[in-house]
Amino acid sequence: MERFKSSATRIVQNYVKNFAHEFNLILETEKSIDFALEETLIASQINLIKKLNEKGELEALKIVDFKEHDNTELATDYVKQLRLYAITSIRALGFHPKQATVHLLDEGTRSEVDISQDILNDVEGEISETVSKIMSRKFSKYPSKKKCFACDWFFFCTKKGK
Ligand code: SF4
Repeated sequence: MERFKSSATRIVQNYVKNFAHEFNLILETEKSIDFALEETLIASQINLIKKLNEKGELEALKIVDFKEHDNTELATDYVKQLRLYAITSIRALGFHPKQATVHLLDEGTRSEVDISQDILNDVEGEISETVSKIMSRKFSKYPSKKKCFACDWFFFCTKKGK
């Protein structure tokens, strides 16, 4: 427990040291935003940095995500995830974010994800295609022992990894 506590303290100290200049902005963590994309409800929990003007009105928006480095098979595709958050922000809040950034807390680094409109259009097309395939029960299984073992369908699935 003590080891985790000191590791968490070190991560937060590094974060404050590197990015303290941004603290005049407002950070809204784990904000739940839903929107409908065709027949699907997309639900996201997003960390937003808001910049307000002197009247207190929203002037600009940034998306941030905080992660620890993960090389495992189950690691999230954070580039796609942040692009989906950007689509969510445009659809649900009416704001195209200025930036989408992932912070690797254990490494103290961050990288920016391209969220230009053309790329977001492609991602939205991909999501629509995936959703319509799932709705018509056309989707490939990619079984693996580790992934299948954690799956709710493990005992019923005929394609599970052995
Ligand atoms: S058990 Fe079946 S449904 Fe679940 S992850 Fe494996 S292949 Fe996919």
